[in-house]
Amino acid sequence: MAASLEKLVNELKVPPGRQIDLKVDFDPGYTGHIISKEDAQEQLVAGIQELAEGQDKLYAQDTYALFINLQAMDAAGKDSTIKHVMSGVNPQGVLVKSFKVPSEEELDHDYLWRNFLELPERGNIGIFNRSYYEEVLVVRVHPDLLERQKLPPRLKGHDIWERRYEEINNFEKYLTDNGIIVLKFFLNVSKEIQKKRFLERIDQPDKNWKFSAADVLERRHWDAYMDAYNEMFNHTSTSWAPWYIIPADHKWFTRLAVVSVINHTLDGLKLAYPKVSPEQKAALKKAKEEMEQEESGPAQPARIKKKRNR
Ligand code: AMP
Ligand code: MG
Repeated sequence: MAASLEKLVNELKVPPGRQIDLKVDFDPGYTGHIISKEDAQEQLVAGIQELAEGQDKLYAQDTYALFINLQAMDAAGKDSTIKHVMSGVNPQGVLVKSFKVPSEEELDHDYLWRNFLELPERGNIGIFNRSYYEEVLVVRVHPDLLERQKLPPRLKGHDIWERRYEEINNFEKYLTDNGIIVLKFFLNVSKEIQKKRFLERIDQPDKNWKFSAADVLERRHWDAYMDAYNEMFNHTSTSWAPWYIIPADHKWFTRLAVVSVINHTLDGLKLAYPKVSPEQKAALKKAKEEMEQEESGPAQPARIKKKRNR
C-alpha cells in the first residue's frame, strides 16, 4: 500500500487514550491528499484488488477472522460502502449482518447475545451494519428504549453507559485474544449533506424506498447523537479495537478510506498461505500420479453399473 495511504489511515484513527471532539478534530468533508474523484477511483480499484488478495490468504490460513463494525447517522453511505468495498472479494468468505430494533426474543437476552450469534468464523470477514454500539447510541438518545429492556431496575442507573463501554471493551479484547480482529468505522457525514441526500431520496422515485419519515425525526436529535458518539469514541477506541472516523461527505473518499484501513489491518496480520509439509507434498504427488494413471485404468462406468445391479 502507498505510503500516502498509510499516513491517511493513521490520521483517521481515534488515538486510544486521547480525548477527541468529533466537531473539532474530524471534518466530514476531508479528502486528504486525494485531489479528485478520478484520482480516488484509480486507487480504489487497486485497493479492492489488494483486499481480494488479502481475503484469499485470510480464508486459506483459517486462523484469523476480520470483524468490521459500521456505525453512522442515516444516509452516511453504509450500504453503498459495503457494496463497493466488497465488490471484489469472494462472497463465500464474507457475511453482512444488519442489526435493527431488537425483537422480543432478543430483548429476553443480554444485549451482546444476538451479536455473538453472527460473529465471523476464522478465515471470514464479517460486517455488522450497526451493532451493539447502538446500545450506547440510539438507546442513550431515546431513554424509552432502555425502559423496554428487561433489566433489573437497579441496573438501569446513570452508570449504565460507563458499564457498557467497559463490557464492550472487554468483549472486543476477548475476541482479539481469540484471533477475531475487530475494526470499527464511523462514517462521518455532515448534517448538511445528510439533508441533501434525504432530499434526493424524496425527489428521485427510484430512491424513495430508502427514505422513511422516521429518518427526519431522528435528525432532530442530531446534537444528542453527536454527544453520544463523542463519549463512545473516547471510551471505546482501544489499542486492540480502535475506531476510525471516516469522512463521509464525499462517497468516493469514504470508500477509498475504508478499503485502505482494511488493507492496512490485514497487512499487519502478516497473512500467508499455509505451508505444505514434506508429507503433504508427497501425498499431492501420489494423488497426481493416481489421476494420471486413470486414463489407462479401468473405466469408471463399469463400476457404477455393478453397484446398480446389486
Ligand atoms: P436501518 O439501519 O436504517 O435499517 O435502521 C435500523 C434501526 O434500528 C435504526 O434506527 C437503529 O437505531 C435501530 N437499532 C439498531 N440496533 C438497535 C438497538 N440495539 N436498540 C434500539 N434500536 C436499534
Ligand atoms: Mg434507516
